[in-house]
Amino acid sequence: AKEQGRGHWQFYASNMNADTLQRLSLESELRHALEREQFHLEYQPQLDLASGQVVGMEALLRWRHPQLGLISPASFIGMAEEMGLIIPIGEWVLRTACAQARAWQLAGHTHLRVAVNLSARQFKQRNLLHAVAAVLTETGLDAHYLELELTESMVMHDVEQATAIMGNLKALGVQLSIDDFGTGYSSLAYLRHFPIDVLKIDRSFVNDITHSSDDAAIVCAIISLAHNLRLKVIAEGVETTAQLDFLREHGCDQMQGYLYSRPLAAPAFEALLLQGARL
Ligand code: C2E
Ligand code: CA
Ligand code: CA
Ligand code: CA
Repeated sequence: AKEQGRGHWQFYASNMNADTLQRLSLESELRHALEREQFHLEYQPQLDLASGQVVGMEALLRWRHPQLGLISPASFIGMAEEMGLIIPIGEWVLRTACAQARAWQLAGHTHLRVAVNLSARQFKQRNLLHAVAAVLTETGLDAHYLELELTESMVMHDVEQATAIMGNLKALGVQLSIDDFGTGYSSLAYLRHFPIDVLKIDRSFVNDITHSSDDAAIVCAIISLAHNLRLKVIAEGVETTAQLDFLREHGCDQMQGYLYSRPLAAPAFEALLLQGARL
């Protein structure tokens, strides 16, 4: 009740630290963020290293909080996951990203592909397959142009279950990638059996390829591992031309990173597509 509210609040407030308080209010704000239309997506271009052209984009979630401004996904995705909110939010991301990709395809960028991050909870959710299929039908996007990004921990936690889920997704025709590859625990023996299409080399390795011979060796190993398994490799977090040159020289297929572009809101991404600037 309101009358009691003030006194209670002060009582509790004095017993709670600022972090807890902030978390509580963020949680209640997050609960309403979807219906209040506070989310939007940014798109980061993914380029083919051989042609230098934009071949797709990764959709990245943004939350514009009325008081706090833009909040990074790193600080609310975990919370959304714990609260179960990641299911409706994730579905919104999927629908919005697929609709946008389809719109850009219809505008002439016929082969543009979109990558969407899945959370662990979404991946295990019973309804996932149905939700993905429904979004594809609804938006008219050919399944082939949707790539779902999974992480090593998601697929290694329960290999048998994960393989079954991945198989079902592949049957729809979507592409599957392993995000942040090399940072988690993954067994190469299983990797061979997973129906995946792409490995994404984590930014932390790319960051130091031109300064650390260890990281350079790791990146080369990931590229040849991927190619031996007939997978494509995307390097993320490419920030310098030296990194780009290294990746080109060692046969990496695609890249994304600040060197070419930061993630962009839809109108800016569209302008970039029209401009058609190559790498
Ligand atoms: P991620 O999937 O590894 O996404 C790549 C992150 O690296 C993005 O951060 C992107 O803005 C950033 N990045 C891209 N290029 C560069 C670069 O050249 N240098 C540097 N320093 N950073 C670069 P962002 O957008 O803050 O996203 C953080 C994480 O939040 C993502 O990491 C992903 O795990 C998660 N996330 C974002 N959107 C979604 C979503 O829709 N659903 C789920 N489940 N997770 C999401
Ligand atoms: Ca990702
Ligand atoms: Ca990543
Ligand atoms: Ca990451």
